[in-house]
Amino acid sequence: MLGALPLALVKRGFDVRVLLPGFPGVLDGIIGLQPVTRIGPVFGAASVTLYAGRLPDSNMTAYVIDASFFFRREGNPYVGPDGQDWNDNHRRFGLLGWVAAHLASGELDPAWVPEVVHAHDWHAGLTPAYITQNPALKVPTVFTIHNLAFRGIFPMEYHDDLDLPMRKMTPHGMEFHGMFSFMKAGLVYSNKITTVSPNYAREICTPEFGCGLDGVMRDRKWDLSGILNGVDYTVWDPGDAKINKPYSADDLTGKKVCKRALQLEFGLSTEAHGPLFAVVSRLTSQKGMDLLLAALPELLQEGAQLIVLGTGEGDLEAGFRYAASVNPDNVAVHIGYNESMSHRFIAGADILLVPSRFEPCGLTQLYALRYGTLPLVRRVGGLADTVVDVNDESLAVDRATGFVFNDATRQALGARIREACGFYRNEEAWKNVQRRGMRQNFSWDDSAANYEQLYRSCSAIPSANRS
Ligand code: ADP
Repeated sequence: MLGALPLALVKRGFDVRVLLPGFPGVLDGIIGLQPVTRIGPVFGAASVTLYAGRLPDSNMTAYVIDASFFFRREGNPYVGPDGQDWNDNHRRFGLLGWVAAHLASGELDPAWVPEVVHAHDWHAGLTPAYITQNPALKVPTVFTIHNLAFRGIFPMEYHDDLDLPMRKMTPHGMEFHGMFSFMKAGLVYSNKITTVSPNYAREICTPEFGCGLDGVMRDRKWDLSGILNGVDYTVWDPGDAKINKPYSADDLTGKKVCKRALQLEFGLSTEAHGPLFAVVSRLTSQKGMDLLLAALPELLQEGAQLIVLGTGEGDLEAGFRYAASVNPDNVAVHIGYNESMSHRFIAGADILLVPSRFEPCGLTQLYALRYGTLPLVRRVGGLADTVVDVNDESLAVDRATGFVFNDATRQALGARIREACGFYRNEEAWKNVQRRGMRQNFSWDDSAANYEQLYRSCSAIPSANRS
């Protein structure tokens, strides 16, 4: 989102800048980095310097926080090589919010002062909290929830490290069951809250999806809205060079070539009479991958095939590996993260499975639509907003784009898989649904227009919760 939305906003005439922690990949990727100001020691990092450069392939400015002690580490941005969270993550991401607030006040780069600050997910959740600490700073803040399940929770005693007053650590502030939560800080101290689909915005106000923060969401529901993520169609399009043969809604012959090539690449039979189902996903229970493993016998009974690309929980990886080993003609799995392979999966499959337990927006079902691969999804979050179920009514009014099921159970998923296999046998009807999906447009331009409207409504807001 942070790669695409700012550029779509620039096209609408905004002067957008992004602020990023100086992870090694960021320092390598940003072009022409120059120091803006030396901030000095903050939060235990001996030296913190703010740099500015350009995002690749654009003229957009990126500010980068260089704090080598915090950010130049092995592992990924959140966990060390042992897979454990860094034990100073509160300082590492607290620094991000702290710098954002000081940049917003003009102290760090007097040449550029934002009119709106937009912070994303728990990592940037302290930004609105620090902004409300400065009584002179009236800049409105927008906070976007990408996934409420990750709440950035830390022990209360860590609060001393963050230069925030104790009054912010109360139940009305960011306190969370005797601890404190960066996510909750973002929710409580921002002017407007968004999440990445309208349906997820409704769901997180309920105990089932609210991750213990549904009360806060309900308190703030008038300031909460859902704006769908977009797709970069310059990257995700069946004309793309990463797939075996490009195709389009007018001429789908290339899709057959892609399917056969994918079957051959993974040693699957090319004689199966059922559809080829694919998964491109984190292999986690959030994504319903345990349900899929349980429903696999029904898929195979229909003469269908399954191909899985993903990494994740060890038992699920092992489950898919085992399924492939005992059904080598009809099940294949690649454990790993591989972007160009993901294009081949989505182009070559007939159906893309996204049986998630919860799904804030979901991107792969949007890619699948564009590639004429019918998504089979659970009716949750953004999946419910973006896929129209194949049924008599939706077919009659030419709206159907995929298959939707309700309950997070093996039976419900298995039943929809069987029905999808039945529908696959009706070639003409299948093609119509494919073509309709391919014509759907979930571009960033539309999302950016919605964010613009939100930013404009913010500037009319007097001030955030300043307690
Ligand atoms: P989430 O962010 O919850 O993992 P999304 O559907 O919003 O789910 O986004 C996942 C993104 O990661 C998609 O762009 C998808 O193509 C990509 N992805 C997931 N797993 C893999 C993988 N193993 N290899 C390549 N791309 C992957």
